Amino acid sequence: MATLKDFRNNVKPNWCPGCGDFSIQAAIQRAAASAGLEPEGLAIVSGIGCSGRISGYVNAYGFHGVHGRSLPIAQGLKMANRELTVIAAGGDGDGFAIGMGHTVHAIRRNIDVTYIVMDNQIYGLTKGQTSPRSAEGFKTKSTPQGSIESALAPLELALAAGATFVAQSFSSNLKQLTAIIEEGIKHKGFSLINVFSPCVTFNKINTYDWFKENIVDLEEIPDYDSSNRVMAMTKLMETGGMLTGIIYQDKTKKSYEDMVVGFKEEGLAKQNVKITEDEFNKL
Ligand code: SF4
Ligand code: MG
Repeated sequence: MATLKDFRNNVKPNWCPGCGDFSIQAAIQRAAASAGLEPEGLAIVSGIGCSGRISGYVNAYGFHGVHGRSLPIAQGLKMANRELTVIAAGGDGDGFAIGMGHTVHAIRRNIDVTYIVMDNQIYGLTKGQTSPRSAEGFKTKSTPQGSIESALAPLELALAAGATFVAQSFSSNLKQLTAIIEEGIKHKGFSLINVFSPCVTFNKINTYDWFKENIVDLEEIPDYDSSNRVMAMTKLMETGGMLTGIIYQDKTKKSYEDMVVGFKEEGLAKQNVKITEDEFNKL
């Protein structure tokens, strides 16, 4: 059985010292080991941004895709080989700006992919512009007088789109983050995990201290029921989207690939099985 070190490779991350992304990489490696995966049974697909480098930093299959397109690639991989555990990862700009169309449709499709958004509330790789997750009034080179747009609320949006697994964590809370990623991997369907991941170089507002002061852990909420979509939506709105933990999970809905008519184990799902279109239609 694979251990943590089997998911490590010799590639040295070139993130800035102190970047939240380091802990997310560590949490993915720990979660993969504790979920009982093998490196050859895991694929990590990423988009563009500082976070996009993560697919090269974990010893598993890696695919560094183009901007905002990690999810189409991840969904294709899962459909081609259902044996594979597929993780997609990228930043808030990648997933919630250029990639948002894919994000919403992957959520409502409920395909069995774990999507980890490394949310630093800014564009880091391009040296600090306002992102869809930046707060109103947020000043950067692209909004020198402060952003006049509202920040996107991705978890509320996911709930509205029919998500079956919605979670949030903080890169500093390695224990919680690892446990959530492991649960996301085990969840049969699409898992959205938004992770607050401070950009220490360009975001001087949403710092480690700022997150520590503003996060509300759902363990603090009495009688919280993560199977209750209305409660999840209400508590998210009450906390300004700062809730952490597994906020919502529906274990009853089937995943997309389990509902595709004719998509049988003995058919296209098995690698190296070549069948004709006629044969496929008869499945
Ligand atoms: Fe991390 Fe920001 Fe540096 Fe990018 S620019 S590696 S997000 S700290
Ligand atoms: Mg970002």
